[in-house]
Amino acid sequence: MAYDDQNIFARILRGELPAIKVYEDDHVLAFMDIMPQADGHTLVIPKTPAETLLDLPADVAAYTIQIVQKVAQAIEKALDAKGIVLMQLSGAAAGQTVPHVHFHLIPSSIHELGRHAAQMGDQEKIAGFAEKIKAAL
Ligand code: 5GP
Repeated sequence: MAYDDQNIFARILRGELPAIKVYEDDHVLAFMDIMPQADGHTLVIPKTPAETLLDLPADVAAYTIQIVQKVAQAIEKALDAKGIVLMQLSGAAAGQTVPHVHFHLIPSSIHELGRHAAQMGDQEKIAGFAEKIKAAL
């Protein structure tokens, strides 16, 4: 399917919508999930326009996963996470709701995750987690 450049994450990348950012470079952005499935739920996205992991050029995927690891290490340190769920949904059939490829980092257990994209989080509390993660990067 053609990439929809009006999707929410494309708009965040263009600065048209706000996001609580924790990391940014020329190729990747990491920011807090607005409806977290656990405290500290963070998203990492390549800036390359691609809908799913399957559409992403391999070199971009390889670079992005390095940043996923870097942010995961910061989450572990900042929030004393005992475990981190790395989740990537490719395709609406898998439950993907935003059609720009992204990696979820959720400091929690697969057995304790909150419902997916179900409830707005407390944005002040989320910003507090973001500050801690940024400080650990
Ligand atoms: P997906 O279902 O595509 O794997 O995940 C999309 C994620 O984006 C969900 O976890 C959802 O909570 C999050 N999300 C949806 N809209 C926004 C938004 O406007 N800002 C942020 N920061 N996250 C969003």
